[in-house]
Amino acid sequence: MTDLTKMTLSAARDGLQGGDFTSAEITEAHLSAIADASDLNAFIEVTSDQAMDMAAKADAMIKDGSAKAMTGIPIAIKDLYCTKGVHSQSASHILDGFKPEYESTVTSNLWADGAVMLGKTNQDEFAMGSSNENSYYGPVKNPWRADGETKDYVPGGSSGGSAAAVAANISIAATGTDTGGSIRQPASFAGLVGLKPTYGRCSRWGMIAFASSLDQAGPLTRSVRDAAIMMESMAGYDPKDSTSTNVPVPNYEAALSGDIRGLKVGIPKEYRVDGMPGEIEKLWSQGIDWLKSAGAQIVDISLPHTKYALPTYYIVAPAECSSNLARYDGVKYGLRVTGDNLSLDDMYKKTRAAGFGDEVKRRILIGTYVLSAGYYDAYYLKAQRVRTLIAGDFKAAYEKCDVILTPTAPSAAFALGDKVSDPLAMYLNDVFTVPASLAGLPGISIPAGLSAEGLPLGLQLLGQAFGESELLNVASVLESAAGFTQKPAKWWGENS
Ligand code: GLN
Repeated sequence: MTDLTKMTLSAARDGLQGGDFTSAEITEAHLSAIADASDLNAFIEVTSDQAMDMAAKADAMIKDGSAKAMTGIPIAIKDLYCTKGVHSQSASHILDGFKPEYESTVTSNLWADGAVMLGKTNQDEFAMGSSNENSYYGPVKNPWRADGETKDYVPGGSSGGSAAAVAANISIAATGTDTGGSIRQPASFAGLVGLKPTYGRCSRWGMIAFASSLDQAGPLTRSVRDAAIMMESMAGYDPKDSTSTNVPVPNYEAALSGDIRGLKVGIPKEYRVDGMPGEIEKLWSQGIDWLKSAGAQIVDISLPHTKYALPTYYIVAPAECSSNLARYDGVKYGLRVTGDNLSLDDMYKKTRAAGFGDEVKRRILIGTYVLSAGYYDAYYLKAQRVRTLIAGDFKAAYEKCDVILTPTAPSAAFALGDKVSDPLAMYLNDVFTVPASLAGLPGISIPAGLSAEGLPLGLQLLGQAFGESELLNVASVLESAAGFTQKPAKWWGENS
């Protein structure tokens, strides 16, 4: 019998629509798998009753012939999406008890297509982090471990709970968000496909903001086809988000022809950073060979401002976060620290001191500093100018090539606790992902191999604005060539 928790999304769709099993059956199987995997700490809230109600509705849609590709598929939602009446705190203490009165546009789109919500996943607080160790709800464990190791590894961040859930077969797919790499890097650490679309492709309405000019929604899935299916449901123009773009959503799955003959793939020389491990370099060369064998033409390109991308990001993102997070003051929602004779100012201070974690406070301080009079021109304005130069680099590169191939992250997953006390080492995780974020361009991570220690490694493809169809098609070619079928043994049993 089909194991109901070990399928790709596309196999589940086919099985549901072919009547092999019902949504109620697969939803129930996932809810019980979630309960067995509580040690991973992937979910902050499990919405069992709601899930079974949604599954019943999905089964009715399948019966009456109105089913869409996502109908009946149990998925997990990152905590920072506002879901009506359900825990939505961006894994922060300051939003304690916040249950929104409204539903985010992206999740509304998924529910309109009949998808089923299993619950809300753990993440770094306000999506700030690369290891999911910055959550008020505690760290998430990666279902993967290095060969022979008993210690636990990080799943990447900030969408670490979503990545762990999909990798550990407790959710068929999950939503993530990516501001500087938070879908792509966890995908790489957990052996998954992670797609960050073009800025403006998905509505940000109802997503708890981190850095508004960078935040984008996207899927974490087990295959490129699954990413295409889920992206199509999540994407779309939304008049409620002024930065959402009114471009029709293509049928992404139909674009997966597997034919990339004549396609020009750019290899940026600036991504050969100092200290890059040999195995990452090797995987990158392997990726180049795979695309070449499929008929692509490899082109050397230059993205000269790459080395400024990380410092630019770590000025722009904190600046925007310091402004976005100013609204959490203990008055409107969430936590409020009270006390006798506490003045309004003291209530603000004590609430914010108690409600935000260390990394969030660090970013608010940096952001406030770079935006303050006297430093604004020296830091923030300069960063904005460099951001324009970085976008210009990509524009020039895309005169010569169609897509760009790079590694996703400079290492495989690291052990829990290894980098928490060194924020700069943590920020370096984003070295290959932030440039495209700053330029607003789409990127996808595809699992391409294992490190010497037996941990997954991803390759990243970057595309042109609204070039998701092409990106997914090239990704599908890499996916077939890599043939990455390994799974974290403990969670996948005999299938691993
Ligand atoms: N790791 C990056 C950061 O901490 C990216 C986070 C994200 O994309 N949300 O800012």
